[in-house]
Amino acid sequence: MDKKISELKKIVATSDQIVAFTGAGFSAESGISTFRGTGGLWSKYDPNIYANINIFMQDSTYYWNFFRDERYPVIKKAKPNDGHYALVELEKRGKIYRVITQNIDGLHQEAGQSDVIELHGSTRKTNCLSCGKTYTIDETYKLLQKELPPKCSCGGNLKPGTVLFGEPLPQVALDMASLASKNCDLFLVLGSSLVVYPAASMPMIAKKSGAALVIVNIDPTPMDDIADLIFRESASKVLSKLI
Ligand code: NAD
Repeated sequence: MDKKISELKKIVATSDQIVAFTGAGFSAESGISTFRGTGGLWSKYDPNIYANINIFMQDSTYYWNFFRDERYPVIKKAKPNDGHYALVELEKRGKIYRVITQNIDGLHQEAGQSDVIELHGSTRKTNCLSCGKTYTIDETYKLLQKELPPKCSCGGNLKPGTVLFGEPLPQVALDMASLASKNCDLFLVLGSSLVVYPAASMPMIAKKSGAALVIVNIDPTPMDDIADLIFRESASKVLSKLI
């Protein structure tokens, strides 16, 4: 690992437009299960039932039960880990161009990261489908204690601020992420299986535009063969050693 860290340090030393691209594995050490990989959440909850937009629009109780029993308690307990703080430190050193995250947990912002593109939205807010009113995660949880599914004060149905399966990604976030991937000099993948599209197209965009590609992920990814450097290690450990 030490030889690879030296190689990474060299790449980082010559980079000042770094994109850090984080996935569920990056928050695993904060106590939030990944979807895939060992112990992944999807082995317990089928995403095509619990997090699918078509099912949600027909019967949202699957999602809200999942939110109440699984998501809310876990997200409320989670704290940023060493990896989140290492990225904040790299930002202070003027190295980070953008953080693009697939995570919906808000932990980058909680650690103090200023420029985060959330490709899959955020579980920390909920919107009313009728009047557009926004509720925090705690307000949503309170409404859920009263009735299932939870309702807005206008009587409208609430929808999580996350992108559900079958929904398009927010266009602004997608455009910003594509642009950042095109303009960066180092694209750092941190804890992502790189199988969820269109998010997973970002490393390819960066590589094609001439950036170095470094992948830090415990399991192999489909893009390992185009990477300049690969770590099969904990992302927080690699970043801690780097800084
Ligand atoms: P994924 O679950 O598909 O893959 C996670 C990857 O992280 C696995 O390949 C695993 O090997 C690796 N990993 C696990 N622990 C790690 C660690 N400590 N260091 C480095 N790698 C580690 O996750 P994904 O690629 O982000 O895509 C799936 C979807 O999961 C995304 O859409 C995201 O929105 C969602 N998700 C988010 C959260 C969160 O917000 N924390 C949690 C679960 C899922």
